[in-house]
Amino acid sequence: LGMPSVPSLLAERRKSRQIQVGSVAVGGDAPVSVQSMTTTVTADIGATLQQIAELTAAGCQIVRVACPSQDDADALPVIAKKSQIPVIADIHFQPKYVFAAIDAGCAAVRVNPGNIRQFDDKVKEIAKAASGAGVPIRIGVNAGSLDRRLLERYGRATPEALVESALWECSLFEEHGFRDIKISVKHNDPVVMVNAYRLLAARCDYPLHLGVTEAGPAFQGTIKSAVAFGALLAEGIGDTIRVSLSAPPAEEVKVGIQILESLNLRQRRLEIVSCPSCGRAQVDVYKLADQVTAGLEGMEVPLRVAVMGCVVNGPGEAREADLGVASGNGKGQIFVKGEVIKTVPESKIVETLIEEAMKIAEQMEADGVAS
Ligand code: SF4
Repeated sequence: LGMPSVPSLLAERRKSRQIQVGSVAVGGDAPVSVQSMTTTVTADIGATLQQIAELTAAGCQIVRVACPSQDDADALPVIAKKSQIPVIADIHFQPKYVFAAIDAGCAAVRVNPGNIRQFDDKVKEIAKAASGAGVPIRIGVNAGSLDRRLLERYGRATPEALVESALWECSLFEEHGFRDIKISVKHNDPVVMVNAYRLLAARCDYPLHLGVTEAGPAFQGTIKSAVAFGALLAEGIGDTIRVSLSAPPAEEVKVGIQILESLNLRQRRLEIVSCPSCGRAQVDVYKLADQVTAGLEGMEVPLRVAVMGCVVNGPGEAREADLGVASGNGKGQIFVKGEVIKTVPESKIVETLIEEAMKIAEQMEADGVAS
């Protein structure tokens, strides 16, 4: 039952320092965590907490909220207190909001000390306050907001420029003995982004937050993130991930979780193995797969369900899964653990699969297989 045993695709994990973002450990041997960012106005406490609750339900482990104004900073204590998952305040330019976020009980702060130094050298005080409160800092370098000096030197946001910027920002904190840091070097081009993280991984031991920034609408952004994170995580690089989509943030979390499950970095949950259909199909495979997926949504057990359109590859795949159907002649052969347990008319396939899935799930839960 459950996950088939396949050779791992993953190289040995890069050894990073471990930091603690509230209750979630990031780096070292901690599991790669999934995070997202709210899209609400942070000062709207009700809406923000509602969205954090939705993200938490979707499996988000750390949430970031923007803090561009005093009203947002004023909302942080309630948000940090009521959120079920650690809250990171995202702050640009204004040191006073960094202190407010630390006082508010935020689990971490994202800040770029380079920005702050331009205005007023408060880095030392931030390092002191953060270290006193045990609050780590994320240094988040983005192609779009790269330091002008580096842009002039490199001509554009190259991997080298992103990494140099990140390490320089780290050095501003290191000067004050502060190393409770995680880093991101985001770019909208997955190839530049992957190269930047590879360089960065080789040059420091800080935990890394992976992200393809401005990845685009859901379809494009999902693929860009999956390709980039897949390449890096397979090399052992990456300690926490954020998929950025021009879509509701709960979608980002689903994609992030699916990426980790696909790499076996997380125990897979429900997995539908359905064929693409072809001229041999004797059933509407798309509809059947959609109906089975909808019927089994929310199952937390690592159940593999095969939905196959005909008897050519159907029985073989259906046998490999925990549960499956191979359709043909207006009927469905239902397989459980490799055995045909019954043949049902097409109209009964979905309900029979759901019924059998429930039985297997109960058994898995009783056996302690569920995550
Ligand atoms: Fe075609 Fe059958 Fe394969 Fe589905 S299982 S793709 S219908 S041959």
